[in-house]
Parts: sequence; structure tokens; C-alpha cells
Amino acid sequence: MSIQENVAAVKAKIAAAAEAAGREAGEITLCAATKVQTDDTIRAAIAAGITVCGENRVQELTAHLAADAYRGAQVHFIGHLQTNKVKQVVGKVALIHSVDSEHLLRAIQTQAAKQGLVQDILLEVNIAGEESKGGCTPQEARQLAQLAQELENVRLRGLMAIPPIAPEPGANRPFFAAMRQLFVDIKEKMAHNQSNMDCLSMGMSGDYPDAIAEGATLVRVGTALFGPRPPVRKG
Ligand SMILES: *Cc1c(COP(=O)(O)O)cnc(C)c1O
Repeated sequence: MSIQENVAAVKAKIAAAAEAAGREAGEITLCAATKVQTDDTIRAAIAAGITVCGENRVQELTAHLAADAYRGAQVHFIGHLQTNKVKQVVGKVALIHSVDSEHLLRAIQTQAAKQGLVQDILLEVNIAGEESKGGCTPQEARQLAQLAQELENVRLRGLMAIPPIAPEPGANRPFFAAMRQLFVDIKEKMAHNQSNMDCLSMGMSGDYPDAIAEGATLVRVGTALFGPRPPVRKG
């Protein structure tokens, strides 16, 4: 299948999942997870109607930016972010999905202040409590949300989660439902910027219809758009 066909198929599935949940398809943003893809593949995806690209690795982000590969789309950073690489990401992406510690949050604040801008962020929650994964606990997310409110150069836009690979359809729905509840709770406690809390980033190729059923406003889809990825080293 071509990228055009895949984009159309994923969009149709998003629309169907939204309708089944009594939601508008327009409430859900499709973010193409572009890790390991080439500049030309990214350009083809954007030509096929992708409006948001999500990048995992700073090195790939920097290279694609230099090649102007994202022209016509927004770029988000969705991978694990090391504090020493914050400078290469802040101000270069519309949204950082993966803030999971006070250290990282403060580093983003410092860099954004230096550049005189406000960086939009999500807090990444390790909702299944998996040892090997990034993301903070729900309780830490509540604390980080309070801290984010006090930082002038970051704007908290919502939450992100990467649950385990679902062994069968529907298996991740309890995790998505828990994320939705945490999102609503945190949003209610935000004194100043409740209205900015508009993004719940969850759902990947294997489970995005379930995430939409539970309230996702942004789904991050790679394989279903681009086909299987070659095995890559973690990093
Ligand atoms: C790769 C990746 C995705 C997309 O995964 P697929 O299963 O290929 O759809 C989504 N989110 C993050 C953070 C990723 O790294």
C-alpha cells in the first residue's frame, strides 16, 4: 500500500472510532511517528495529508530540520529526552510529549527563557508502571503539573502515555481510561491554564481506536502509515 492509501485508511479508522465513541473526528489529531524514515518519506507523508510529525531522536530531528523535510507540517518531540539535549529541541518543536521529571522540566524552562519563548509540553506518565520505561508516576505528574504552572516559559498542554504492547485488542483500554481520569483531575486543579490543557496523547498503530474510545485527542501512528520498521538499536 502507498503512503496515500495508508494515511486515508488510518484517517478513516480514526473517524470510525470517533463516531463509535460519540466524538467528532476533528477532535483527534493524527501524529505520524517518523522515526527511521527518510526526508523523502516524510515529505510524501505530508503531501498525503499528514499535518503533525512526531520525532523520537534528537539526531534525526536535527537532520530532518536541516533538510527542511517537515515543511507544511508541525513537528513534535515524542521520544525520551535527555537534559543535555534540551537545547536542540526547545523552540524547534511545537510540543514536547515526554517531560517526566522535575530536572527535565526545569531544563526546558531555562532553555525556553534563554530563547525568549514559551515551550508547550506534555507530561509523560508510565501508566502501566513498567520498570523499563520512561515516564513518571501519576502522583509525580500531579506534582509536575503544579510546578509547570509556576514556570513562565513552559505551558502544560496535557499528558502522554505509552502503555505496553497490547496482547489482544482492548487490552490497553483500562490504561487509557486511567490516563483520561488523570488528565481530567489535573486539568481541574490547574488554576491559571485549564484552557490550555487540551491534549491527551495516547494510542499507537496497535491500539489507537481503543485510545480514541477512551478520550485520546492525539494518536501517534508509525507502522500503520509507513509499514514495519527495520530493527533499530535503542537510544
Ligand atoms: C514509534 C512510536 C510510536 C508509533 O509506534 P507504531 O506502533 O509504529 O505505530 C508512537 N509513539 C512513540 C513514542 C513511538 O516511539
